[in-house]
Order: sequence, then C-alpha cells, then structure tokens
Amino acid sequence: MVTAFDHGGGVRSVRVPIPDNPLGHTLVYVVDTDRGPVLIDTGWDDPASWDTLAAGLVACGTTVGEVYGVVVTHHHPDHHGLSARVRDASGAWVALHAADAAIVRRARESRPERWFSYMADKLTAAGAPREHVAPLRAPRGRTVPGLSPALPDRDIVPGELLDLPGRRLRAVWTPGHTPGHVCLHLEEEHPARLPGHGRLFSGDHLLPGITPHIGLYEDPDDATVTDPLGDYLDSLERIGLLSPAEVLPAHQHAFTDAPGRVRVLLEHHANRLSGLLGLLAEPLTPWQLAERMEWNRPWADIPYGSRTIAVSEAESHLRRLVKQGRAEPVPGSGPVAYIAV
Ligand SMILES: [Zn+2]
Ligand SMILES: [Zn+2]
Repeated sequence: MVTAFDHGGGVRSVRVPIPDNPLGHTLVYVVDTDRGPVLIDTGWDDPASWDTLAAGLVACGTTVGEVYGVVVTHHHPDHHGLSARVRDASGAWVALHAADAAIVRRARESRPERWFSYMADKLTAAGAPREHVAPLRAPRGRTVPGLSPALPDRDIVPGELLDLPGRRLRAVWTPGHTPGHVCLHLEEEHPARLPGHGRLFSGDHLLPGITPHIGLYEDPDDATVTDPLGDYLDSLERIGLLSPAEVLPAHQHAFTDAPGRVRVLLEHHANRLSGLLGLLAEPLTPWQLAERMEWNRPWADIPYGSRTIAVSEAESHLRRLVKQGRAEPVPGSGPVAYIAV
C-alpha cells in the first residue's frame, strides 16, 4: 500500500520510485493550498511511478484530478517527468525557471542527431578516446533521454511568491546542478517550532548524504563559457544564509542544520579542487583528469554513460580552477590540456 509521510503544517511527501536507479525514489511534496494541492516535482515518467504518485495523493486525502499546480525544481526527468500527465489529469499549471524551460524547449525542438553530434564534438574536445565517442557518431535507434518533457505554463521568477493561495512559497534561484534549478522557501513557522526560518524544498541542490552532480551546462546553441561549479558554490552559500529550520530535499530524507550541511559541502569542494591541482602538476585533458579523479569505484569499472558524466564533472572543476586563476590551458595543445599555475 502506498503511504504518504506527513511533515506537518499541510505538507506531505510521497516516495515515487525511479526505475533502475540507485537513487531509488523522488520525494514528491504535496502542499495544501486554498485551491487544492500543489506538487513540488512529480517524479519519473513510468507507469509504476505514475501509479505510486496517484495512490500517494489518495493517501494524502486528495486525488491527481484535484492538483492545482506543479512547481518543478529543475528539468531532470526524475523531477519533471510526470508533469505532463499530472497536468492532463487535472488542468494544473506547471512552473519551471526560464533557464530550464529553455532546455526543455530545445529538447523538444531539436533532432536527436544534433544532440548526439554536439556531445560527440564536446567529448572529442575533452580528449575522449575514439571508442568512447564512436557510439555517438552512429546513434541508430538511440533516443535522447527526456526528449519530450512538458513545456511549462509559467516561469518561476526568482524572489517572487508562487501562486499557492493561502501559503507563502518563495522561489530562490540556485543554479549549479542545472542552470535553472530553484529551491522553494516556505516562509511559515515550522509546525514543530524548530528554530530557523521556515522550511526549504531543496530539490537536488542540498541533500543530506550525497553531493549533486555538477557538470557543464550543455547547450548546443550557446557558446558562453559558464562556470556551473562556481554558480553552485555561490547558491550553496545563499541557502546557508537563509538558515531554514528544516530542509525537505527531493531524495533521501528531511533534515535540519542546513548551514552545517552547506559548510560540509563547501569544504568537500574546496578539498576536491585542491586535490585536482595536485594532479594538474602535469598537463591533462579533461578526460585524463577524469580518469585520475577519485570516484565511487575504479575508472575501469565505470560504465559508459557514467564516464560521460564524470568527464563533464571534471570539466566543471577545470572551469572553476581556470576562473580562480589556479590552472590554465596549455597553449597549442589539442585536445586542450590544462596545467596548474
Ligand atoms: Zn537533478
Ligand atoms: Zn534528482
């Protein structure tokens, strides 16, 4: 039987499973409003996940058809996947930050071949070996993940209150994990009167036991040199200053002491950046750096898709080091190699 967890003060959560994923589930939050429930995220687009969400809403004393609105923390399919189905079943509005809405629009409009050739070029430039890039050059029968996500009806505007009649839910823009990631600050006293300022729905930005993936923002139409890790670290500091009484993340479990968790993460990233500088005593391409970085298992055991993600993470760290003036590209190297300054 599907149950819902009651966080108090008109907030519940439903654990919606993510098929074949070590994360296990997305916590979809159900916030009561004067016009019906508003969901924070929806979960993966899969029949079993949909059934769980629908049954979870019944356990909350409502139904999918009653949903008034959907606030999506970011465009990833474990958060935005079921938004279209919820909207079809209820007529709810769906809100997303403009930067992530642009990603959704592009995914719907561009042909899969364009995406694959963009990724192939990017990996080649990062120094990936030919055998890693080859499957992207002949992507027959492959589909781009999240190809047809729902176009949102509304933009989430940073700093503004969202349309939750009878509640105070404010959008806090926290780019890094994605360019348009938002946290949602419920500016109401904690139901158990825990010390701090309200409650924060943190999406993938701040989680109790894992660090979110920070790669490069991938946009075939935009050549801007972005610094996602820098964005993420800035966003983390802002969330720490907000000092919410409790954090309600999209994975794992609710927790307190957000400033403490922020400090741990800032320290983790500072240490990791310093560790990478040690590796960059010799010139390394992003791919070579990824091979030498510490992951949750040896490089040889990391499967294909995760290697692509790992290289993107190596690149976001290189961007940060270059921006800090602690590393620089080696002139004339191709693919570009980086070295500590
Ligand atoms: Zn995510
Ligand atoms: Zn997630």
